Amino acid sequence: MKYKRILLKLSGESLMGEQQYGIDSGMLLKYAQEIKEVSAMGVEVAVVIGGGNIFRGVQADEFGLDRVQGDYMGMLATVINSMALQSALEKAGVYTRLLSGINIQQVCEPYIRRRAVRHLEKGRVVIFGAGIGSPYFTTDSAASLRAIEIEADVVLKGTRVDGIYSADPEKDPNAEFYSNISFKDVFEKGLNVMDMTAFTLCKENNLPIIVFNMNKAGNLKRLVDGESVGTLVSM
Ligand code: UDP
Repeated sequence: MKYKRILLKLSGESLMGEQQYGIDSGMLLKYAQEIKEVSAMGVEVAVVIGGGNIFRGVQADEFGLDRVQGDYMGMLATVINSMALQSALEKAGVYTRLLSGINIQQVCEPYIRRRAVRHLEKGRVVIFGAGIGSPYFTTDSAASLRAIEIEADVVLKGTRVDGIYSADPEKDPNAEFYSNISFKDVFEKGLNVMDMTAFTLCKENNLPIIVFNMNKAGNLKRLVDGESVGTLVSM
């Protein structure tokens, strides 16, 4: 297999399936199966999951809340999603640990880098909840940062699209698909891969990103096997 240790980033929205809000149990089971498959191959798997299906800090204003409060609500939303994924994985027979960037000791372990690495070495799927634990960040940034900390080989950004295009393929029929692209070109073309903080972290630490369609069954395994799936962003 091509990658020994991966960090998989899933958005909160992807958990909604066809719903407008919350968690679709079918999506949860589907993702758990995909993760189980690669974990069973001996790949060390860490997961960061977003919270956008429940709450995002940028919505705080709409609710008359202050931004920081909203961001903490968003972080707690990621913990809810992480707990749901953890349960789905455990039901599928996968050993997991949930490590949170905010201390919630009755529910999960605190994030401690060495502990995360030890869990991975023991073959447990590690889920990082609560982002990095600080407001004004996103779970994409958490994915980049945690991946660097645990020395993952790659960040796999699971999305609903096949990868990166020159334009939105749903709006522009001439949109060009990139199977490989450099950090520099992503930046110069103004393509939207991750937010700038997350993207810069990967670039400065030479950590490749693969944007791929997580909703196509078997894609995650194909990627880990070394097949060209999605768009690889690298130096
Ligand atoms: N968040 C934060 N710090 C972090 C990670 C997340 O403040 O380190 C908050 C932020 O408000 C964000 C929300 O949690 O909008 C949910 O995460 P995100 O929007 O990244 O989820 P996704 O878009 O992937 O579903």
